[in-house]
Amino acid sequence: MSDPFFQPVSGFDLPRFAGVPTFMRLPHVPFGHARFDEVDIGLIGAPWDGGTTNRPGPRHGPRQLRDLSTMIRAQNGASWVRPFELVNCADLGDVGPNPADLMDSLERFTKFYTDVADAGIAPLTAGGDHLCTLPILRGLAAKRPLGMIHFDSHTDLFHSYFDGCMYTHGTPFRRAVEEELLDPSRVVQIGIRGTAYDSEDRDFAESVGIRVIAIEEFFARGIEDVMAEAREIVGGGETYISYDIDFVDPAFAPGTGTPEVGGPNSFQALQVVRELEGVNIAGADLVEVSPPFDQSGGTAWLGVSIMFELLCVMATNLAKKR
Ligand code: MN
Ligand code: MN
Repeated sequence: MSDPFFQPVSGFDLPRFAGVPTFMRLPHVPFGHARFDEVDIGLIGAPWDGGTTNRPGPRHGPRQLRDLSTMIRAQNGASWVRPFELVNCADLGDVGPNPADLMDSLERFTKFYTDVADAGIAPLTAGGDHLCTLPILRGLAAKRPLGMIHFDSHTDLFHSYFDGCMYTHGTPFRRAVEEELLDPSRVVQIGIRGTAYDSEDRDFAESVGIRVIAIEEFFARGIEDVMAEAREIVGGGETYISYDIDFVDPAFAPGTGTPEVGGPNSFQALQVVRELEGVNIAGADLVEVSPPFDQSGGTAWLGVSIMFELLCVMATNLAKKR
């Protein structure tokens, strides 16, 4: 199963600062590549932040995340999982957005992820802002709604911004529920906090049966208990994992557009992902890393570390299904 072509370049063979940076030093296998059909998990860059309402910058995320991801080694430090030997992983490249036209970008993304889904590839995406997740779900959930475990300090469930603008990074999951891309009874949002415009998003969550676990409950109950409930909510059905880096406390992840204080530390940021083992993951993303606000590169480093944890549970679960 361990095909040499799909192995990352080792730091023993070429130093980590050298070479062209693909995600985790994997081979670049775009659409049309001779071995595209053999890819199980595709790492994808979504360099687009057209939905950002305040501090911009996540369009620069994928390039910075690719660069920092050259620090990732082949074996998980906690579980000792070696994901690249379990399934075929590759960098599929970037989705090309149209930075001057939000609706055209949504269409381009939807087409890209429809093709990824049709190829039977589970996507692991590096954003981009959180609006990117809507066209990803349009591609993945075209045939049936998915469950979702969503880490964020915001629900991103608002109806609209600026007098009826329906597509921002604060609205993707409202649209996804309306479009029946998500089954709200199998959706859980974890880490919600911060000041609010009003309760419109939370009222909507309650009205459709989305479970919201605010940060106070998260810390009061502890990670294992909360994540056991999350696994129970999504059950055995196909589930999307969406991880907004602003779930993490800004002391550990300042490089993002809408930080909220009082969040999990970087260890807890990884722990919640390790608790996803056994979840039937259809795809995952890590969004909202904004390099212009990430002076040390530490936010991107945490971001790719979260991506590696996501990849490890995706690969483990996929390998078990076979
Ligand atoms: Mn978000
Ligand atoms: Mn957020």
